[in-house]
This record gives sequence, C-alpha cells and structure tokens, in this order.
Amino acid sequence: VIEIGQPEHSVVTTCAYCGVGCAFKAEMRGEEVVRMVPYKDGKANRGHSCVKGRFAWGYTNHKERILNPMIRERIEDPWREVSWDEAFSFAATRMRGIQAKYGRDAIGGITSSRCTNEETYLVQKLIRGGFGNNNVDTCARVCHSPTGYGLSQTFGTSAGTQDFDSVEDTDVVVIIGANPAAAHPVFASRLKKRLRQGAKLIVVDPRRTEMVESPHVKALHLPLMPGTNVAVVTALAHVIVTEGLANEAFIRERCDWSEFEEWAAFVAQPKHSPEATAILTGVDPKVLREAARAYATGGNGAIYYGLGVTEHSQGSTTVIAIANLAMVTGNIGRSGVGVNPLRGQNNVQGSCDMGSFPHELPGYRHISGEAVRDQFEALWNVKLNPEPGLRIPNMFDAAIEGTFMGIYVQGEDILQSDPNTKHVVAALSAMECVIVHDLFLNETANYAHVFLPGSSFLEKDGTFTNAERRIQRVRKVMTPKNGMADWEVTIALAKAMGFEMDYSHPSEIMDEIAALTPTFTGVSYAKLDELGSVQWPCNEKAPEGTPVMHIGGFVRGKGKFIVTEYVATDERTGPRFPLLLTTGRILSQYNVGAQTRRTENVVWHAEDRLEIHPHDAELRGVRDGDWVRLQSRAGETTLRAEITDRVSPGVVYTTFHHPDTQANVITTDYSDWATNCPEYKVTAVQISPSNGP
Ligand code: SF4
Repeated sequence: VIEIGQPEHSVVTTCAYCGVGCAFKAEMRGEEVVRMVPYKDGKANRGHSCVKGRFAWGYTNHKERILNPMIRERIEDPWREVSWDEAFSFAATRMRGIQAKYGRDAIGGITSSRCTNEETYLVQKLIRGGFGNNNVDTCARVCHSPTGYGLSQTFGTSAGTQDFDSVEDTDVVVIIGANPAAAHPVFASRLKKRLRQGAKLIVVDPRRTEMVESPHVKALHLPLMPGTNVAVVTALAHVIVTEGLANEAFIRERCDWSEFEEWAAFVAQPKHSPEATAILTGVDPKVLREAARAYATGGNGAIYYGLGVTEHSQGSTTVIAIANLAMVTGNIGRSGVGVNPLRGQNNVQGSCDMGSFPHELPGYRHISGEAVRDQFEALWNVKLNPEPGLRIPNMFDAAIEGTFMGIYVQGEDILQSDPNTKHVVAALSAMECVIVHDLFLNETANYAHVFLPGSSFLEKDGTFTNAERRIQRVRKVMTPKNGMADWEVTIALAKAMGFEMDYSHPSEIMDEIAALTPTFTGVSYAKLDELGSVQWPCNEKAPEGTPVMHIGGFVRGKGKFIVTEYVATDERTGPRFPLLLTTGRILSQYNVGAQTRRTENVVWHAEDRLEIHPHDAELRGVRDGDWVRLQSRAGETTLRAEITDRVSPGVVYTTFHHPDTQANVITTDYSDWATNCPEYKVTAVQISPSNGP
C-alpha cells in the first residue's frame, strides 16, 4: 500500500484517452496526483468516467519514460543524452542538410491526435512556414480521414452533427462499425440509458458486440461480412426508397432534388435489394428490412459509427452512404438525429481542425486558395507553398524512392500503428533524420536519430476537441518532468531551423487560431473558462457555440446525395487464406497500450486473443486457449485462441493492444480510395495450431 496522503488542491482538466472527452478534477498534493475525480460539471461526461481515464494516468511517472533529449549519428549507434540545445541544433542541422541535398520537399512531419490543438497547430505551422512545404499529415489519416472527406462532400463540414445530449431525444440508435461499450464507455452508458427507456437499437457489425449483448436491450444485429458495409447501407437505402419511406418533404426543402432522383434510381435497382445482396453480405434480408423500416419510421434516428466504417478501401464511400441514409429519412438538423463519428483518440477532431492535412490550412481551407493563403502569410510573415504535400503513405513511398529523407513525428508510434510494418521499417531505415517526440522510446524510435522527450497531458496547458466538436481546456497540474511542454519543444525546434514562433502561453496560440479560423473566431481561454467548453462553430453567429449542426440548412447549402457503388476490396479470401480477420478494442486498454500498459493495475494485463467461431476452430483442431499461428499474405503472428460464436463462421477477430501481437505485421497495403486510410478491418488469413510465440 502506498501512502499518498490527502489532496491539497485540485485542477480541472480533460481526459487524454478517447474522443468522449471526460472532464476530471485532478486532486493534487504538491506535484503528485492523489486521484482523478470525474468532474460533475463536465459537459461531455456529467460526473462519469471509465476505468482508463480514472485510473490510467500513472504512466506519467513510469520508469521507462525518457526525460532527457538524446541523439545518435546512425540508428546502429547507442543513444547519447544531450542538452535540449544540442538536440535542437543536431536536428535542425540534419533537416536543413537534407533540404540542401535533396530539395525543400524532402522533409515533413506528422501531428498527433493525442496532443493539444495548440501543439498540432504549431507543428503544421513549423512545416508550412519553417520547412517551406505542406508535407504534414496526422495520425487521424489512419482512423477518421474518410469521415472528413465523406461528411464534407455531403453536408459541407468534416465533423459529427450532434452533441452527446442529443441522444436523449433519439428513438432509434444505429451503430455501425463501432463498439462504444469498449471504446467510448461513458457515451455508451448514455446510449444504454436511452435504450433502457425504450429506444430501438440496430447494430451493423461483423461481431456480436457488448452493445448487442446489453441486458434489457433487444438489438437488431446485422452481422455482415467484413468489407461489405457499402452493400449493406445501400440495401437499407433500397428498402427505404422502394417501400416509399423516403422523407420527400425534407429532401425537397433541404437537398438537391435532381441528385436525389439519380441516387434513388440507383439504390432502387433490384441488385441492391436485401435479398440480392444477402449472399455477399451475410445479412438475413428479413432483419435488414426490419432495420431499414425501424430507422425510417421509428421517430428520431441517430447513426453512430466508428473505425469499422472508415478503415476500409471504401471507407469514404460508406461515410457518404451513411450521410445519404440520414438525408433520405430527414434524420438530420435537429436534436435526436444525425450522423456521428465516434472518434477513437482524444483529439482526432482537433488535429483535423488544426490544418494537419497536406492540402488544408486550419479550418479545412484548401492550400491552393490564394485569399486564404494571404491571411496566413500576413500573420506568419512567410510565403506559403500552394501545392498540397505528401500524405503519410506517400511519405513512406517517397522515402523508399530516396526523395523524402527527414521526418518529425510528434506523439505517434507510426511503426506500430501504420499498416504493413515491413514497409514502414524500410521507409524509416531509408531516412537520414527521424525525429521522435514522445514520452517513451516507442517502436518508431528504434529508427530515430533524435529523441525529444514529450510531456503528458498533466504537464501542459491547451485544449482538446472531442467527438461532438466540444473544445475543452487541458490544464497543467504539474511541472513537466522533462522540462518542456510539447508546444515549447516545437517552438524551440522551429527557432533552431531559423523559423521564429513567439508565444509565452498556449492561450496566445489559441488567439492566433481564432484570428485565422472562421469556425473559431469566438473561442478564447477566457470564454472556455467562463462556459466550461464550447462546440465549434463558435463565432459571431454562434457566440456560445453550436451543439447541433445543419439546422435549417446544410453548411454546404443543399445536402448532396452521391451514388455509392459497392466495389469489393482487392483483399480476397481463397484456399490459402480462407478467413477474414477484423479488429477492435477492449475496455481496459487503449490503442497500442503505450499508456495503459505502463500504468500499474491488474486489470490492464489482458492479452490480445483471436476470436474464432467453433466451426472454424473444430475444422483446424484448435481448442479454447490454444496458441494459434495467424498468417496473411503480408506476414504472421501468434495469439491464443478464444472459441466463441460472437463471430460468424469465416470471420476471426482480435484486438491490437500489445506490441507482441504485432497485428499490423499481417495487415495489408490496401487503403481508402479517397483518403488512403488503411484497410485495417479486412485481412484474409489462415490459422493453424502453434506451440506459442
Ligand atoms: Fe477518458 Fe474516454 Fe474513458 Fe471518458 S470514456 S474517461 S474520455 S477514456
């Protein structure tokens, strides 16, 4: 038992795990956290929390945390601890040397959805202003980039439409490719409360998730084969259109009618019926028809979706198909309805808002727009490059080709998180300067030349933006153990490279963001302190923010129906790889486990397991708890088997929380056609008994 003592003071801040964005009171004794207490006035959580936010902050003090900067000439050399100044000078000399040798576009960087809005903004500013190119991308590339594309095409905004409170007015909850009970637990509790009050539940997921199994809730479960989202959502639309359930009045008033007619003729084709697509999707046509009728006629219908929608070769197409579904039923533009991406990381929404994409400045303005560039150039005092830069996968390809040789990676373990690990290793090995800015020596750091110690959310000021566009304060509760908050590190690195950025506090960075971003003009730390939080757009038209979007009209004007043709992924099963692997999360672990695995608590130590249907297990002589070898065309790994009918025959499922599992060794190179978001959710595999790793 460790005697911690009674708290002396408390500071309200925001959880740094998932996109729910729970507010906490960090109760402090000196520089030590005594406990994290869910904050009752937190608008996203109302005094609730999950096990991760409440108990998994101990990684801040973990013995493996790196507190001093380190450099090395070659990745074969041992690390050498140096002063911050020497690290910045080394990094800047290398990066400038690469530009002198290979050209201005040979370097770039990656922002983090774990860091604050202000930190993300600074990294993209450093790259655009200091590096002189637009080679900036975000780790959101590998999760919700299709959300940005799909929702901006159809509605005009790259964000979810509702606040969480909206669920209290919902009559039909549709969950597609998400398991909020494990990944967004506090919001899942609100969903379950509404379901207990009588709202209907429809779950589209290859696996019978905890939401389907919720007690007292009778869910309509559509257990589709991985990779067939577009076919299923189009079949739902087919039923709505052909059975006369479309909300014509809404469509005539709010959407482009001729585009609707073209789309309606498309979905009405007999080949899109539930019966015609049943063999492909594996979904019982009767259940699908029942689900379509319930969503279209059951009152307020709200769709919540996750990475099971986006991480596909047709991720953007599915987001568009979901938006079509909301428009055809009129389920948009009021409380209780809408299209709501559940963001995995705490600041996915914010990192996208802050200009982390190679083609967009903060506020989703295209870099080619002269008037927009003029604004930034005037305030930043630089000339901006109008050409979009490289996305993360393009950076890797260019590194292997020898044209992209230096990268600054803030708060992201790209080696563990990105698909096709062999390809990432080849790319990182080819680079002449890899700068990792993180809390721990992660897997990417094995290929780094510079390690800049990062700061945890407890050690800095800033803001996060959650899945409902809610901007909330992150408040410093202790002095950074590494000596510098992440925003200060980026400023110092920029200065070493000859690009001055002058801020004495993150509030000044937010003031600059507000001055340059039309959806943020009303945002300031003073307002956040006064109101607790605000949801963007927050500007002259909406000084207290916007909980529900697209009321009375879409941001883009008329809602746009877009035809969504199903195209099968190139990842195919066959005699060698007859099963389809899909992935997900468990409640107690977070992503690759960098934080949760480094917080002492017995519940953290669950291992990744491979769920196999009894029929598939018996065919291969695999029993519950056996080790199995999991092979794909890309690679192989070893896990323990869990025999369960939560998955259908032909489908296997695992989580990806432990580095030993190396789930991404077996994932493919396929990605979303519009955004390059990797297709993590569909991999053809074979399993066979194994003696263990
Ligand atoms: Fe943190 Fe998400 Fe859990 Fe809330 S639900 S405590 S934001 S991990």
